[in-house]
Amino acid sequence: MVKNNNKIDFKHWIFDLDNTIYSANSGIFDQIHKKMGEFISSNLNVNLKEAKRLQKKYFIENGTTLHGLMINHKIDPKEFLNYVHNIDFSIVKPDEELNDLIKKIPGKKIIFTNADISYVKKILTNLNLNNIFYDIYDIEKMNFLPKPNMETYRKLIAKYNVDVKKAIFFDDIPQNLLPAAKLGLKTVHVYNSKLDEELNGRSKKIDYMTNNLKDWLKEWTLNN
Ligand SMILES: [Mg+2]
Repeated sequence: MVKNNNKIDFKHWIFDLDNTIYSANSGIFDQIHKKMGEFISSNLNVNLKEAKRLQKKYFIENGTTLHGLMINHKIDPKEFLNYVHNIDFSIVKPDEELNDLIKKIPGKKIIFTNADISYVKKILTNLNLNNIFYDIYDIEKMNFLPKPNMETYRKLIAKYNVDVKKAIFFDDIPQNLLPAAKLGLKTVHVYNSKLDEELNGRSKKIDYMTNNLKDWLKEWTLNN
């Protein structure tokens, strides 16, 4: 399902990372989720079943599992991130057709992710997308206040001097798109069939929906 607006000359293209510019569902998230379960179990002294329940609860309630752990258990974010991102990145492979489409987009391209910079760099290296993005707005730049916190979007807009009328944001989690839509950016829901149902509701406030970023960019490129 693609419906593009070909009238806007976007100056800022803002992309989520996981499950937006590549499929984290094809192996990366399985590894991270397993590590998160282990980390929570050993740090909170609970069994793996309870750890999994907390992991999901905090993700849904706080935007990220990490944020819930920081608020409720004073977990050190760096310790958590180092542990859960110590995984095999080699399974992430480039899609050169998508890369060409991204490279051809005019304007500033920014990654806006709840992950941390060292993880993002590893993913982008494996995707062969290093040095394509103007900047990476990661969880440390957000002072660990993740999407969908409105304050984080306002800070991003101020930092990059974003004209919201000429900006577009892509994410696979609808609730992460809503603050951007509220602030006036165009929004694209990159549909993720594996997302928890609680998080995958549709909203009329989101401008476009697509099953993958490549299709959407192809159509936009054809119309521009
Ligand atoms: Mg995502």
